[in-house]
Amino acid sequence: MQQENLWAPWRVKYIQDLSKPGGCFICDYLKTPDCDEDNLVLWRTEKSVVVLNRFPYNNGHLLIAPIRHIPDLDSAEEAEILEMTKLIRETQKALSLTIKPHGFNIGMNFGRCAGAGLPEHMHIHVVPRWDGDTNFMSTCSDTKVISQSLEELYRLLKETSQKQSLPKL
Ligand SMILES: [Zn+2]
Repeated sequence: MQQENLWAPWRVKYIQDLSKPGGCFICDYLKTPDCDEDNLVLWRTEKSVVVLNRFPYNNGHLLIAPIRHIPDLDSAEEAEILEMTKLIRETQKALSLTIKPHGFNIGMNFGRCAGAGLPEHMHIHVVPRWDGDTNFMSTCSDTKVISQSLEELYRLLKETSQKQSLPKL
């Protein structure tokens, strides 16, 4: 199957970031709360953090991660699993109210061979979908044009969160 080659500068940054030894952007973000807006950190909760993916598969692609630098569900506490699951619900709410997706793909990648860009720090992908966008495998494996700028979307999601008092955990 031949993919169209789109100009996707965020992928270049992604590849560069991946090659940094020992780097964990989630832990970096957690250490710098003053930079939440620049880092597109949407929510900080007791045990988790929710950020807009800088290298989105689709518009509104969010990541839910535990605060602890743990690789998988086996290392997670029950309370962390519960909170992250509730955050799936809450991110769907926030996205639905803000950009009205027709559906969602929600999932996790474990191991680089499975497509995990950051295998050392587990995270859940929440990917909004619309009728007529491309199928999930193609959005996962290649690039797409993202219509709304990340900064603008971040601002809108912040607004929705404030109005609706999200996340409700
Ligand atoms: Zn980490």
